Amino acid sequence: AELLVRAKNLKKYFPLKKGLVHRKNSYVRAVDGVSLSIKKGETLGLVGESGCGKSTTGRMVMRLLAPTEGEIWFDGRDISRLNDKQLRSTRKELQMIFQDPYASLNPRMKIGDLIAEPLIVHKIMTKKERDKRVHELLEYVGLNSYHANRYAHEFSGGQRQRIGIARAIAVNPKLIVADEPVSALDVSIQSQVLNLMQDLQKEFGLTYLFISHDLSVVEHISDRVGVMYLGKIVEMADKESLYMNPLHPYTKALLSAVPIANPRIKRERIILQGDIPSPSNPPTGCTFHPRCNACMEICKTVIPELKEIEPGHFSACHLYK
Ligand code: SF4
Ligand code: MG
Repeated sequence: AELLVRAKNLKKYFPLKKGLVHRKNSYVRAVDGVSLSIKKGETLGLVGESGCGKSTTGRMVMRLLAPTEGEIWFDGRDISRLNDKQLRSTRKELQMIFQDPYASLNPRMKIGDLIAEPLIVHKIMTKKERDKRVHELLEYVGLNSYHANRYAHEFSGGQRQRIGIARAIAVNPKLIVADEPVSALDVSIQSQVLNLMQDLQKEFGLTYLFISHDLSVVEHISDRVGVMYLGKIVEMADKESLYMNPLHPYTKALLSAVPIANPRIKRERIILQGDIPSPSNPPTGCTFHPRCNACMEICKTVIPELKEIEPGHFSACHLYK
């Protein structure tokens, strides 16, 4: 399939402030050389622990943040250096779904107006067409027309996320970046929302960048998955290869903590030593080396590149030549 997104060597460094003064050459390397591509109609999952740079990556792909370095190509166009004015026509093609639908929904606005807001911002449709569209959208996400006159606080968490989804799809975007969209929901509600996202994807040919710390959630929805650690993608593969045959020691450790239904698959729990190091002072060589149970001499000095180890399966680890 055709590529919708292509990110090349994306970096985002935030100046590290001590008090009010920026210490020279001190940066938080939130994202440190991420390359990825997303095909039209697919879901790319980005998974990793909090602080690994997955949200910052998502915000750069959305161009809510400008990259410090690197390129973002969206639908054949380099959008990495565009300013707000130049981005205006692209904005509606990039929509976001947030973790906390309640925080992202204005409590003083009726649901119908909240869903219509992106249509107004982008000057799409007349008032009459918008009303019709709002009702249609409410039904797409499993709510009803009469909900249009209610306020966000009258809805459950799952329903609020449905409203957030309706808002995101209102303008027929090409890409939706969903950042922890089900993390605030009860497990029983999570799969309903994920299934809804999948149904809408099929119906409208949506492409998702799906960000989560939760490996089971990412497995549910993704076609391909990238695993991030300290601002880098350490492994990237089709969902099946990644979950059945993880190559990178970090992925193996993460997966060893996920309960699996299939009793024929035996996995020993790998306990990682130590904490995630600070992204302002990452370890040399492979940044995972202080915590890796397979660490070799070379790992302490040489940064492993993300390389294709098996067809379509990439890993950044010196264990694979
Ligand atoms: Fe472990 Fe070395 Fe591979 Fe890094 S490069 S994950 S330290 S084996
Ligand atoms: Mg985050």
